[in-house]
Amino acid sequence: MNLKVVTNSENFRNELEDVVRAFEPYVSLRDEGDALVANVYVCEKKSIETEIKMKDFPTISRKYKVDPNWNALLLKRNLKRYLKRDFYDFVSNLTKKNLAYGSLTGIRPTKLYYELLSEGKDAHKELTEYFRVSEGKAKLLDDIIQAQKGIYLEETGKTDFFVNVPFCPSRCHYCSFISEVINPKNNRLPAYADALCRDIAAVSLNKERRAIYVGGGTPTSLPPELLSKVLRAIGAQGEEFTVEAGRPETLTEEKIAVMKECNVTRISVNPQSFKQETLDLIGRRHTVKDIFRAYDLVRKCGNFDVNMDFITMLPEETFEDFKHSVDTAIALGPENITVHSLSIKRGSVFAENNYDNFSDKLSLEMSDYAFNVLEKAGYRPYYMYRQKNTSGRLENIGYALPGKECKYNIDIMEETHDIYASGAGAISKRLFGDGLIKRFAEVKDIKGYLERIDEMIEKKIAFFAE
Ligand code: SF4
Repeated sequence: MNLKVVTNSENFRNELEDVVRAFEPYVSLRDEGDALVANVYVCEKKSIETEIKMKDFPTISRKYKVDPNWNALLLKRNLKRYLKRDFYDFVSNLTKKNLAYGSLTGIRPTKLYYELLSEGKDAHKELTEYFRVSEGKAKLLDDIIQAQKGIYLEETGKTDFFVNVPFCPSRCHYCSFISEVINPKNNRLPAYADALCRDIAAVSLNKERRAIYVGGGTPTSLPPELLSKVLRAIGAQGEEFTVEAGRPETLTEEKIAVMKECNVTRISVNPQSFKQETLDLIGRRHTVKDIFRAYDLVRKCGNFDVNMDFITMLPEETFEDFKHSVDTAIALGPENITVHSLSIKRGSVFAENNYDNFSDKLSLEMSDYAFNVLEKAGYRPYYMYRQKNTSGRLENIGYALPGKECKYNIDIMEETHDIYASGAGAISKRLFGDGLIKRFAEVKDIKGYLERIDEMIEKKIAFFAE
């Protein structure tokens, strides 16, 4: 069924359309579809009335009291919540489908959880009864909030530090990042490392660093001397310090020694799957053996925390394949395991080839399996976010053994700390209180970044001086 949204609340149009998109493929958002009308009225500042209607279907019209203590922000927040929830109910009736996250369409459900707590509400109850979140997902959010105790909103006077190294040995078919495949004939790594080191040193921070994250791309694509140059420029002194070594084949004893020398505390070695046929199908160009070799090397050469990433709903994977991957990871015993839901993003090979992995049932089975078996093995979910275009509209969840949670991952999701970011496409963030966040984004493409590095540095200095 094709639907188009008609509303008297243009401010909320995007969110209403997101509700319809969340029900795809059961319905589709189209300009020429049947008109689904969502209206909201505030009556003499005393009540809010919503009305959702469509030809040949029963109308939903509801009335809510306005709390006289609400300021303009709270009134707007509640208007949006009512309208979206009622709109969700309508589309849910229309399709006869319930979604795991109910009427929530944003990428950060934990932010809403904290918001509800700050309003003095029983967040679990509100999520299930009001926002139509399933019992299982509300419990997941309870667990995450619990695991964040002692980390969330701690050390807010400190800043996080992000460094982007957007190079990889090959392109994963689900990738939509700016990452460039290393070209031996036009090796831009040395020039990039030079520019990056200048970028890292550009601003003398008057804040202590809380956590450092070197991501990408695959930072361990850098040869040992360049990796050393970049990590030395960062100059970690005992803070939490993560380096993504996403591709196991890029890890060598020499590079691990460099990381140890530069005080790296956490390394991400990402299998995505322990099934060779899947790795081949998704363009990873490494073997299952490479994963074991890299993991053993990291364990042998240092005292690092290790994270391993996995993805549900990879092509041709059955429930048993996914289960095998998660079970194998648990047997290895990394401190962190992250389970992503495959998202088909614009710009990826999967999107170009119209790869369709839709199965609400299977994606939920995989995600639930990971949740249950990881909890049994002693891991706790500690951060999460949702992405668009995932089967079942599910989420990405980071699990950790207690005390091994990555602060950076929590900070970035909850937006609780400033971020000083360097590298192509890196986004620095400053928090000014009352939800005001200012961002500074560096040039995304690597060529542009190298050409305009002086300009980027100048702008970044001005951004942090403000
Ligand atoms: S390792 Fe990450 S950044 Fe590199 S191609 Fe794969 S998904 Fe993209």
